[in-house]
Amino acid sequence: MRVALQPDTDIQYLKGVGPKLGAILRHRGVATVADLLEWYPRAYEDRRAMRNIASLEAGQVVSLEATVRSVRSMPMGKSHRRIYEIVIADSSGRIACKYFRVPYKGYFERFTTQQTVRVAGKVILYRGRLEFHHPDLQVVYEDDPKVADQLIPLYTDTEGLSPAKLRKLMQTALSELLDRPSSASSQPAMTEVMPVWMREKYQLLTRAQALKQIHQPPTEEAADYLKFRAPAQRRIIFEEFFWMELHMARRRLGMQREQAPAMAPAPKMIEQLKKSLPFALTNAQLRVFKEIERDLSEPHPMHRLVQGDVGSGKTLVALLSTLVVKESGYQSAMMVPTEILAEQHFKSSERFLSPLGVRVACLTGTMKEREHSEIRERLVAGEIDLLIGTHALIENDVLFKKLGLVIIDEQHRFGVEQRMRLKKNQSPHFLVMTATPIPRTLAMTVYGDLDVSIIDEMPPGRSPIVTRKVFSSKRDLVFDFLYQQVKKGRQAYVIYPLVEESEKIDLKNAVSEYETLRARFPDLRIGLLHGKMKGDEKEAVMDLFRTGEIQVLVSTTVIEVGVDVPNANLIIIEHAERFGLSQLHQLRGRVGRGELKSYCVLVLGYAISEEAIQRADVIVGTTDGFKIAEADLEIRGPGEFLGRRQSGLPGFRMANLVRDITLLQEARAAARDILEHDPELREPHHKFIRDTMSVHSKAIVG
Ligand code: ADP
Ligand code: MG
Repeated sequence: MRVALQPDTDIQYLKGVGPKLGAILRHRGVATVADLLEWYPRAYEDRRAMRNIASLEAGQVVSLEATVRSVRSMPMGKSHRRIYEIVIADSSGRIACKYFRVPYKGYFERFTTQQTVRVAGKVILYRGRLEFHHPDLQVVYEDDPKVADQLIPLYTDTEGLSPAKLRKLMQTALSELLDRPSSASSQPAMTEVMPVWMREKYQLLTRAQALKQIHQPPTEEAADYLKFRAPAQRRIIFEEFFWMELHMARRRLGMQREQAPAMAPAPKMIEQLKKSLPFALTNAQLRVFKEIERDLSEPHPMHRLVQGDVGSGKTLVALLSTLVVKESGYQSAMMVPTEILAEQHFKSSERFLSPLGVRVACLTGTMKEREHSEIRERLVAGEIDLLIGTHALIENDVLFKKLGLVIIDEQHRFGVEQRMRLKKNQSPHFLVMTATPIPRTLAMTVYGDLDVSIIDEMPPGRSPIVTRKVFSSKRDLVFDFLYQQVKKGRQAYVIYPLVEESEKIDLKNAVSEYETLRARFPDLRIGLLHGKMKGDEKEAVMDLFRTGEIQVLVSTTVIEVGVDVPNANLIIIEHAERFGLSQLHQLRGRVGRGELKSYCVLVLGYAISEEAIQRADVIVGTTDGFKIAEADLEIRGPGEFLGRRQSGLPGFRMANLVRDITLLQEARAAARDILEHDPELREPHHKFIRDTMSVHSKAIVG
């Protein structure tokens, strides 16, 4: 007798799966029946929306049947990648289907002219023509079963597994697992994790119901399915968010229970520092500092994120905080992503804090061992109040006598784990500062365990930055402008992209451009800065730029974060199309730091896409970092937006942080709700959540 199918049954035992198909499925990460059911459709095709080509309009998601007219591939710009183009036609017209990636080798070889195909996807207006980009394209065979008038799930293409076969497998798995008659003794085939109260409160289907509908969607809900708003989709997305939010909420709870030294206020020192500044603090700076002061006075660790646009004056808020810590007899550590920045912060701390008796030191990885060990000794002896440094601070031999506060500047470069390694077996408060404004959705997920303060006001007297985009052909004019500005006593940056895969080529660009500029403007003092230089070489160049000795700094993106030279009022960014929007915004933030009228010029290379031009227009159109971050997130998606190195962001199978923000908020509320009433998850109806949670927590980095 066959044993009844269970979710954890090996996929090999599913009817219709032979050894060969079993291997293909396992290769795709499908080892069990449950894995198969969690292979969610990436989209749906509403076949009732069948159209003819002449009637198509941009922006519509449509489905149609047509004949292949031509199949060809062509090189994409200068790279070795290729674009594939399949032109299809019906009696009313023709349209091209373009692919910029190949799903798998040999994919396009399946298509030949005169074949009948079915295409589903979004109609796009590209350079004045309607096209499909990456539509779902299937060959229609004579003997295919007729499935008209239906809503069809579309799965990621997989070699050796046709969409029809995959749909059949789903059907088999679903009916064997969920439709079998339940006897009184038998358990339901699929455990429901979410307690009844939660399903009622947030109107969630059961997991079994949701899975069934996801793969066999009811046609009458077509409109909702296309938008990922159907009840079944809501349930799955909610659950994905819920595990992440529960993990965050628990971490937050755990942190709130930890101990940390309560710092006494230090009004006298704060007053003294304020008096010594050449400017008044903005209201936003004062407000955020108050929030920090309050956190520091608690016997539990602060975990606060300060967000503020480029140039909003975050550093000063951090320095004020170190005064409070010093006054209570504790030490502060400030970690920054680059040596240039460490050096710069060290200098401004010395200027502002040393007169108040604060002992500041700087520690970097490229320091001589003798200096390094001297600083370590003073640190353990408690003779340093504020240590500023790079990753070198994380090293185990860097020990503090009494660490009270850890400040992390430009957090998007550090993961949560690194944050924890800075605890140094003590119980400090944490202050995290981001340079890149992060849209609310992402801040909620990546920094879900932090309280957030926002510096939403710029220091007065800054004139806005004029931003222009220019095509390569007009480059010469841009450099004429540079020459004029420098002759007026200003300074300028010229930035080159540095893409990891082709670091060498890019380096050559910066170096050769440096030579070209020197030849063209022999009377200007031009300097070069790039990532391959040693720490002290970089520092020397930066110092020369800071003092105005160097007038034009040609640099790769090592300059990106935090660098502050108020006399620089022009930044030229070459190959602007190769930067992310937030990165461009960061770079632009290098100018406009004083009262000088400032300029940012985005130079676009040849043969760039419409999208690249639109992206440049976003930067030209606004200097609001939050607006830019949102646009960036929308264009690139969360993974790319945060950078590969960012941990703490789980991979979702169906959920989408941009599209599904409302569900994210609901899931967060649910997670906090459940922990508030049952912090240890001891109640019987929370058993499944407790059991499942540990599995999910492992999957969520951090
Ligand atoms: P960011 O928030 O980008 O880290 P910084 O802290 O580097 O900005 O500050 C940018 C510049 O603005 C620095 O030169 C700093 O001294 C100056 N600054 C900070 N606060 C004020 C203020 N309230 N008024 C005028 N200038 C300020
Ligand atoms: Mg900064």
